[in-house]
Amino acid sequence: MTFPTVPPAIEPAELTWHDGLPESTQLGGNYFSHRNELEALRYVLSEHGDLPTRFAAVPHAGSFVVAQTGFGTGLNFLATWQAWQNHGPSHAATLHFVCAEPCPFTPQDLKKALLAWPGLRDFSDELIANYPPLIRGTHRLLLDGGRVRLTLFFGDVQVAFDALCFQADAWFLTECASAENPEAWLETTITRVGKHSKPGTTLATPFAGERAWRLLNAAGFRTQTSNGFMGKRDLLSGVFQPDKVSLTTANEARPPTPSVSVIGAGIAGCSLANNLARRGYAVTLIDSADEAGSAASGNVQGALYVKLGVEFNHQTELALSALTFSQRYYAPYRDQYWHPTGLLQLAWNASEQDRHRRFIARNQYPEDVLRAVTQPEAERLTGAGLESGGLWFPGSGWLKPGELCKSLALHPGILRVYGFSVSQITADDGSWRVSGTDPSVAGIRADQVVICAGHLSPQLIPGSGKYRFKAIRGQVTHVPESL
Ligand SMILES: Cc1cc2nc3c(=O)[nH]c(=O)nc-3n(C[C@H](O)[C@H](O)[C@H](O)COP(=O)(O)OP(=O)(O)OC[C@H]3O[C@@H](n4cnc5c(N)ncnc54)[C@H](O)[C@@H]3O)c2cc1C
Repeated sequence: MTFPTVPPAIEPAELTWHDGLPESTQLGGNYFSHRNELEALRYVLSEHGDLPTRFAAVPHAGSFVVAQTGFGTGLNFLATWQAWQNHGPSHAATLHFVCAEPCPFTPQDLKKALLAWPGLRDFSDELIANYPPLIRGTHRLLLDGGRVRLTLFFGDVQVAFDALCFQADAWFLTECASAENPEAWLETTITRVGKHSKPGTTLATPFAGERAWRLLNAAGFRTQTSNGFMGKRDLLSGVFQPDKVSLTTANEARPPTPSVSVIGAGIAGCSLANNLARRGYAVTLIDSADEAGSAASGNVQGALYVKLGVEFNHQTELALSALTFSQRYYAPYRDQYWHPTGLLQLAWNASEQDRHRRFIARNQYPEDVLRAVTQPEAERLTGAGLESGGLWFPGSGWLKPGELCKSLALHPGILRVYGFSVSQITADDGSWRVSGTDPSVAGIRADQVVICAGHLSPQLIPGSGKYRFKAIRGQVTHVPESL
């Protein structure tokens, strides 16, 4: 007897294997119809949407967004990533692949399935190393040094496309493994595809029937049907040419903003500045101190820690997504600034023990995220004498936040302005002017300003009286090593 999966865990794809290729029992069909699938995909990429040429034309600091219903084995994503590597511009630009998968593969099944494509080995190894745990919600993967970003939503496709904010340049519309009513699924999905498209967005789909054609045309796509490649089903492709261009669509199609000032060189400001610089933005990182990581982020150690809610609600989902993202984000700094030793949250008093009991009873977390441990097990894992058990997070650990800040701020695309205490931010002729407390020093202009000044942020936000802020005190105890 099988029990239903309780959130935040998600039911993985049920598979059977034939000749090393996976078949979905939910979908009742193959993920790959034959081993020429990759060739067929490359044909779709170049002939239906001309992606190689459009990749090459992405401007500096720009991005190209490919969206897909379903992730499956990730083969479409890997083929797109490879095409981006071969044809994308040599300057800083980003491929962003967005997709939702209601029945994700387990990491073991993904690894097994992708063995069929040895030519994609470098890409699939990196994907597998970054593949998120099977929990519902949004997972952001930074690949290829941040040149490729994968937003992978585990859960219902419609929920994903209602929640996610993006405008696609190209769509792959694939079948849904879990749709109970495929006809209704197609209709609601195509409505959402239209909402996330802009004039010129292309689409390719194996739904080549009359119904898909009608729905896509009603959504604003001008479509054509072509023969399938190497025995594949016929293909329907199209270009989004809506009669009316909505204001949102027109606004979101703006070119990227080139200059950004980030105020505050703590972990928030340095991570953001580094991220923007990798994308090709001109970034100025400003701090009143003489170096990065000098305030709250200057601690010798910071535990990568989250207190998850007993209820699995939006706030818990965000915290969980941030926790697993951070674990992936810090992985390249392992043993340098990042020490994934595992982390124990102790149930140290009666109220915490009660909270942990309720938390475990109501939720189901995969063991690679967390599990409840008894007092003897907690002692064994930590090597310390303890009075209680608790929650064990095997992928967490501790960070040297101050040193990481300094390292992140060294990106050559970041202009560092230290010893500059910001007193005011004013709108000035379509951009922002950041002025310092020293009137003899000229202000700094930027198209966009991001305030990452920690607990001092409220003082800098124009009109901040509208928002409620609360500073929270932290505490560390330094213990001699000899103890
Ligand atoms: C003692 C202590 C222990 C903690 N332990 C943990 C832990 O174990 N795990 C954890 O996750 N969190 C911990 N925290 C919380 C965590 O350290 C902070 O949430 C985090 O460091 C905040 O980073 P930040 O970049 O937002 O702010 P900060 O690191 O404070 O950076 C803000 C920067 O803005 C600059 N700035 C401010 N005003 C101006 C201005 N007007 N002009 C120019 N520059 C300005 C400051 O100089 C500073 O460098 C702890 C906090 C403390 C204090």
